[in-house]
Amino acid sequence: MLTYECIPVGMLQSNCYLLRDEGSGALALIDCGFFNRAVADAIATQGGDLRYLLLTHGHFDHIQGAQALRGRYPNAQIAIGAEDAPYLRGEAESVAGWKSKHSVAMEPDLLLHEGETIQVGGGVLRVLETPGHTPGGLCFFAEKERLLFTGDTLFYEEVGRDDLPGGDWATLRASLERLIELPGDAVVLPGHGQVSSLAHERAANPYVGLAE
Ligand SMILES: [Zn+2]
Repeated sequence: MLTYECIPVGMLQSNCYLLRDEGSGALALIDCGFFNRAVADAIATQGGDLRYLLLTHGHFDHIQGAQALRGRYPNAQIAIGAEDAPYLRGEAESVAGWKSKHSVAMEPDLLLHEGETIQVGGGVLRVLETPGHTPGGLCFFAEKERLLFTGDTLFYEEVGRDDLPGGDWATLRASLERLIELPGDAVVLPGHGQVSSLAHERAANPYVGLAE
């Protein structure tokens, strides 16, 4: 059974989520825009067994803590969508004129693809490819716990930008339609801002096309 806590970090208050498998104590982070004492303390308080850093996408405000994490937790594997790996490697620009703004280029340990699963102790996360905000954007779905980590694809009554390099509205829209049609009422845990639910977004998000 996976539980989570949310630690907003950095200037843009990017949500860094710490997941814990209650059975084994295994931990995973989803996004780490900035590695600070709050993140380090949360990991330590939860037992320190960090297995993964899972990146929803390659923008600097979600990946900047990766280098520090690799140094501090050498057993944690750093994973990103295959199409977004160039951001981590420092080859792609997050914003026009900006390289990904973290100084050290990094090679990810794992490249993630649609339908793959990540095992965090006894907990399971499914990889959903949701491009549009970036070419290799991902969401992570803990189906059993009904937790949907949406990165910068879906926010509370909002959606991610499509106007940054590599963004595309038609692609983002298709990804949103797919998320919103996931069965049931998952908790929506976005990359910025407050928690929501799929039911709320179906009813109230003006960008998903299903509000009537
Ligand atoms: Zn972003």
